[in-house]
Amino acid sequence: MTRDPRYDILFEPVKIGPVTAKNRFYQVPHCNGMGRSFPSSMAEMRRTKAEGGWAVICTEEIEIHPSADHSPWAGGRLWNDDDIPVLAKMCDGIHEFGSLAGAEINHGGQITANRYSRDVPLAPSHLPVALHDPVQARAMDLSDIRALRRWHRDAALRAKQAGFDIVYVYAGHQLSTISHFLSPYRNRRSDAYGGSLENRARLLREILADTKDAVGDTCGVALRFAVDELMGDAGFTSAGEGRDLIEMLAEEPDLWDVNISSWENDSATSRFKQSGFQDDYVAFVKEVTTKPVVGVGRYTSPDAMVSLINKGRLDMIGAARPSIADPFLPKKIEEGRIEDIRECIGCNICVSGDNNFVPIRCTQNPTTGEEWRRGWHPERIAPKSADESVLIVGAGPAGLEAARALGQRGYKVTIADRESEAGGRVARERRLPGLGEWGRVVDYRTYQISQMANVDLYLESPMTPEALDEFDADHIAIATGSRWTTDGIGRQNQLGINIAPDAVVLTPDDIMCGTVPEGPVVLFDDDHFYMGGAIAEKLRRDGCDVTLVTPAAEVSSWTHNTLDQHAIQKQLMDIGVQIVTSHNITSIRPGAADVSCIYTDATQTLDCRSVILVTMRTPIDDLWQARPKLIRIGDALGPSTIAAAVYGGHLYARGLGEPDPGNVPFRRELINLSSD
Ligand code: ADP
Ligand code: SF4
Repeated sequence: MTRDPRYDILFEPVKIGPVTAKNRFYQVPHCNGMGRSFPSSMAEMRRTKAEGGWAVICTEEIEIHPSADHSPWAGGRLWNDDDIPVLAKMCDGIHEFGSLAGAEINHGGQITANRYSRDVPLAPSHLPVALHDPVQARAMDLSDIRALRRWHRDAALRAKQAGFDIVYVYAGHQLSTISHFLSPYRNRRSDAYGGSLENRARLLREILADTKDAVGDTCGVALRFAVDELMGDAGFTSAGEGRDLIEMLAEEPDLWDVNISSWENDSATSRFKQSGFQDDYVAFVKEVTTKPVVGVGRYTSPDAMVSLINKGRLDMIGAARPSIADPFLPKKIEEGRIEDIRECIGCNICVSGDNNFVPIRCTQNPTTGEEWRRGWHPERIAPKSADESVLIVGAGPAGLEAARALGQRGYKVTIADRESEAGGRVARERRLPGLGEWGRVVDYRTYQISQMANVDLYLESPMTPEALDEFDADHIAIATGSRWTTDGIGRQNQLGINIAPDAVVLTPDDIMCGTVPEGPVVLFDDDHFYMGGAIAEKLRRDGCDVTLVTPAAEVSSWTHNTLDQHAIQKQLMDIGVQIVTSHNITSIRPGAADVSCIYTDATQTLDCRSVILVTMRTPIDDLWQARPKLIRIGDALGPSTIAAAVYGGHLYARGLGEPDPGNVPFRRELINLSSD
């Protein structure tokens, strides 16, 4: 297939100072939980994106000095020359495909607690560090500022030595000392580095000049800046100082990488922000500068990308999450395979890897983070090892991904589901408020399967043990999912909850399948991810009085890992969901639920007609119970995230017919003991 000429503009080269990007696809810096901790994995993940056609591929944040040590988060590091080889490996992989490598070097200052280095953190003014560590950053004096400029220059030179083509000056997200100096609420200095915007921007201006002087002969110098902090007059706004700063430095960098902050706003989930949500904020930048501008907005549609270029909004399409979900997005556009793009769903499971200090994972792309350690390529897979057939029972995310990947390998695949719609849990969950984009998990896979002559999907096909016996398949996988339970057993109540026989107790499955509960409703969330909050939101929007009770101190507390906890709790409060935190449900009776404080055991009674328990799920494994030699995958094996189900399906498909890899099924990045 050939590219649609409408998209030609996306493949024009863009000059960035002394270097040229081969097209307009720009992978902006993004965390990945690998960085310096799993460097071969990180390098191969980036190399794969170069193969997939991204013209520029940037690192995550690279620490430049022990005084801004982000441990245990696993970003990059360029403290001294010892750190160069890891990043050189990444650059070499990127250069293999004619792409440019960008280094986001950074001094994090007041956002780092220096847990590993034990240095005293640095900031423009005395301030507690942004993490909740009982640590304060000290105000920098002029010699500290001189030292910071030297560290940044040294790191830029090391980046150049590693082979980078673009070096960043990072003033975005309030995650850098440069941005802390810029900030009207963090910088309380009265010297030449504080007060007016001119003064607060002095350090940025100096470091920009230093960086250009040090590496600008061969490297493009990019300036990353959050034009709006969504704090109104307390911070930068795109109509106020955000614009003023860009006007002030308009022609100084070789490229503007612009966005909004904080990170939660920049990487907003699809539950709260649509694709293109940053456009209104950054639209002015190109009016102010002649330098190339890159911006983000979870862009996956080539038509939207073309429109941004044609309207003069951006020069390069920035992407972090869309490049994770589909490292081959540019190649697919180039080859006229738009329908094959695996679109990001905006769930931020990718961010959860970084926040938990483990390699990145993605709901849509089960191969990310696995490129090196398992040798998984996002587009290529080993052909079938035998001329065999596979029956998969269940067309949820696990079954669909297994069928898709097995089909790609060339197996003859039958996938059967008892429902009239494919998708399993996602078919239900995509109808919850804000979760519509999650349906892409199903849509991508059902489309791919529909294009494969060797894969047949049968709906309204409930399978029984006898039907399995009669089915002529060489392999059978059970991907029948899980259901939410009604006994209350869960994290907080390991022996269950005292529930009167005539009390009305429902689960998320009941609500998603159309049960309308009699209100008032008490929803008990002992799961802590999105489900409790999403069901509460749905019921409240349907007009029900809802009280959400949770043993945690916050609503949907695990969603800190996906950056949307604040937005979820605010949303529920705004729409009038009553919230009772740090409480357990002790008993449920007709018309009432008794709850108790998890600290004092003080009890109170909440009047309610129905209780919804969001506690735990049990695998639907009756087929496996009847035929225990069969393989289970996804939630039928162990209920978990959608990402885990997709991964489980993919793992099964990759492994079928392959030799057992042994106790440790993937390559590990072993630590070499230092020689001294
Ligand atoms: P996972 O997340 O592991 O993919 P889901 O719960 O999303 O699991 O999907 C499981 C799918 O399996 C559902 O669509 C369900 O209808 C289907 N299923 C469960 N039991 C049977 C069965 N006996 N026969 C056919 N389909 C089944
Ligand atoms: Fe997109 Fe979710 Fe994948 Fe992140 S994990 S890249 S948000 S689909």
